[in-house]
Amino acid sequence: QDVVNKIAAGEIIVAPMHALKELLENSVDAGSTAIEVLVKDGGLKLLQITDNGHGIEKDDLPILCERFTTSKLKSFEDLMSIGTYGFRGEALASISHIAHLRVTTRTATSSCAWQAHYADGKLTPAKPGQSADPKPCAGRLGTQITVEDLFYNIPNRRRAFRSPSEEYAKILDVITRYAVHREGVAFSVKKYGESGAGFSVAAAATKTDRIKQAYGGGVAKELMEFGTEDAKWGFKASGYATNANYSVKRTTLLLFINNRSVESSAVKKAIEQTYQMFLPKGGHPFVYLCLDIDPTRVDVNVHPTKREVHFLNEDEIIDLVCANIRENLAKVDT
Ligand code: ADP
Ligand code: MG
Repeated sequence: QDVVNKIAAGEIIVAPMHALKELLENSVDAGSTAIEVLVKDGGLKLLQITDNGHGIEKDDLPILCERFTTSKLKSFEDLMSIGTYGFRGEALASISHIAHLRVTTRTATSSCAWQAHYADGKLTPAKPGQSADPKPCAGRLGTQITVEDLFYNIPNRRRAFRSPSEEYAKILDVITRYAVHREGVAFSVKKYGESGAGFSVAAAATKTDRIKQAYGGGVAKELMEFGTEDAKWGFKASGYATNANYSVKRTTLLLFINNRSVESSAVKKAIEQTYQMFLPKGGHPFVYLCLDIDPTRVDVNVHPTKREVHFLNEDEIIDLVCANIRENLAKVDT
């Protein structure tokens, strides 16, 4: 059974960035206003995320890493109107099958923090011979999740990661996307052993400040705000995109559908085409696009490995969004 669980977990968490994305979304779901990430060896040695969210009740700790443990799905209707990121209760379970996992957490009503270690979905002693029960400890309100030695029991996978800096870059990419999207939340990322943050943004930072911190002043200076909605297709689009005065090396699309960071090659392709007649040859845009679509019409995260998203009336919605971007592009003096 453990082998099956391990294989399944390895399909959900393919690289450190996938573990990080799940943990980051959990921290956001918990209402955090400050999220700190610490990374060692591209997240393979250590991935630690500390938030100041509502924490986890001590009584919930024993089942925290069982599959389908989730506090986010209260009824079947919820499945159809997912406002929070998680609803499967598979992330922590998966991580516990392929890494050493430690959770330290404190809720507002608890007089101390509690720490628990997990292996293969269950509580496990911190050291052999000790009790597996959660232990009281000092700690602030919120949750710290520590993931060590990711893929330690899948040596082939582990060996496949040749460059920790590449994995770090992917982790940074996930964090900067959420940092742009989540106003009111402070983010910081640090490499283990380095004093300064690799990236940070304050809670009070505005949208354009966030884009500037994450993607540079050049992008931030040439941004246009756009937005459109349509009742017939049941969507609302808004965002920021570079104008025709500026191009980036590769198309950078930050796509959020119902507040989840997702990928859509259809959206990306359409946006590239939209910019083609505005940018010099070889130029590419930066586009941060938030789409709010009736949740029953979106097929988001049916399975965690499914990173590509599809929604109903994709062509019609994409056309309208691109038409809106085109209108805005045409307005800017070049
Ligand atoms: P899901 O997010 O799909 O519910 P997860 O495995 O990611 O499943 O998390 C399981 C549960 O653990 C969540 O539903 C939540 O109750 C709790 N949890 C996980 N991370 C945090 C966190 N950072 N702060 C508060 N609660 C958390
Ligand atoms: Mg989750």
